[in-house]
Amino acid sequence: NIDPDYQPLTTDTLAARLGPIKALTDLLGSDTSNWNSKEVGDGNLNLVFIVQSDQGSVIVKQALPYVRLVGDSWPLPLKRSFFEYHALIRQAKRAPGTVPEIYYFNEIQAIIVMEFFTPHVILRQSLMAGKTHDGLADTLGLYCARTLFRGSDLSMDTAKRKADVALFAESVELCDITETLVFSDPYFDAERNHHTPQLDALVATLRNDVDLKVEAHHLKAKFCNNAETMLHGDLHTGSVMVSDTETKVIDPEFALYGPMGFDIGMLLGNFWMAYFAQPGHAEAPGTRADYQDWILGVVDRIWTVFTSEFSRLWREERTGILYEKTLFEDQGHALASEQALAHRLNDIWQDTLGFAGVEIIRRTLSLAHIAENETIKNDELRADCEARGLKLGRALVVNRARMNCMASVTDLARVIA
Ligand code: ADP
Ligand code: MG
Ligand code: MG
Ligand code: MG
Repeated sequence: NIDPDYQPLTTDTLAARLGPIKALTDLLGSDTSNWNSKEVGDGNLNLVFIVQSDQGSVIVKQALPYVRLVGDSWPLPLKRSFFEYHALIRQAKRAPGTVPEIYYFNEIQAIIVMEFFTPHVILRQSLMAGKTHDGLADTLGLYCARTLFRGSDLSMDTAKRKADVALFAESVELCDITETLVFSDPYFDAERNHHTPQLDALVATLRNDVDLKVEAHHLKAKFCNNAETMLHGDLHTGSVMVSDTETKVIDPEFALYGPMGFDIGMLLGNFWMAYFAQPGHAEAPGTRADYQDWILGVVDRIWTVFTSEFSRLWREERTGILYEKTLFEDQGHALASEQALAHRLNDIWQDTLGFAGVEIIRRTLSLAHIAENETIKNDELRADCEARGLKLGRALVVNRARMNCMASVTDLARVIA
């Protein structure tokens, strides 16, 4: 049900339509003839404009009533803009400095006006160009620990938590996309799937692999049933922007309550795919070896920073419904609290590996693939990179309970590469 007042913006109409809004004239000036709009959306779903004047610049993001990648044959509610807005204002509080500041939101027009990150680029671009970024892993590890802990019942009181779960529970269609495209479509010959033809035999093997299918569905059950925290929901390396000094996280329109390991797993899965894709971007054979090491180092560091910040928050900010300090520390049972923490971190670790594996498989077999692979022109070479990813992905999903530290996963990735 689209509001009759809803209208997609164009570069020609944008200044006239947003010109009367004070939040924008404060930033760009009231002389709208001075505003310059450019459409830059490269995502699958939405319109994104950069609007600049001699005074400042903003990003204007507007949802379309359908999936941009596919067209109006696949409708998608405008309300995802509302969920993105609500996720962004929560993330800004929980992980200050990592997400765009919001200047204006209009629910009927499904428009968010936000901070323009410049000269930042999408992290995938750097992962293809072989460019390193200082501080990337630390920011992402802190972002994950802070948003996942502070959005959970380890931190929130019961009334806030229930109200928030109810708010995001309405995001049915976007959840359905993840449930279908990530967890089900890859495991059979679904209509929207595609894969590199040279992978036919491997794909057939994976689709007949019932151990894999069952484990993928145990993970799907966790995704659907375990409303542990507010997730970003689409935390791949195309939702991360980087400059030489900063790392930022954008695009949480898929926000939902789900298991903590889902966000970290999707993120790490995308780094591992970028790792295996390097031969497809090397200037000459072998020139990306150091860069591959850097990627594995980033993954290792994200997990280290995540666990240490999560542990700090557990000790210092455990103010929510679970493992109350009144029951543990205040009774002289600090050691039991530490044991509970270790147990919870181990659960998150196993979920992270599983979701990373599922992400790698779906990005190779289902509808949405990754630029690191899609831009490899040579089919044979692309298939080779993708096959290595699938091998790690399958191992992560099926053997995650037997992988007890990052070093064992890193070793496995190196053996497969
Ligand atoms: P979608 O939901 O359609 O994927 P995104 O929010 O990912 O849309 O935005 C699409 C693109 O627009 C991003 O890949 C990025 O290049 C650009 N973009 C989005 N938000 C910002 C921002 N705050 N600052 C700079 N560029 C942005
Ligand atoms: Mg995006
Ligand atoms: Mg997208
Ligand atoms: Mg998006």
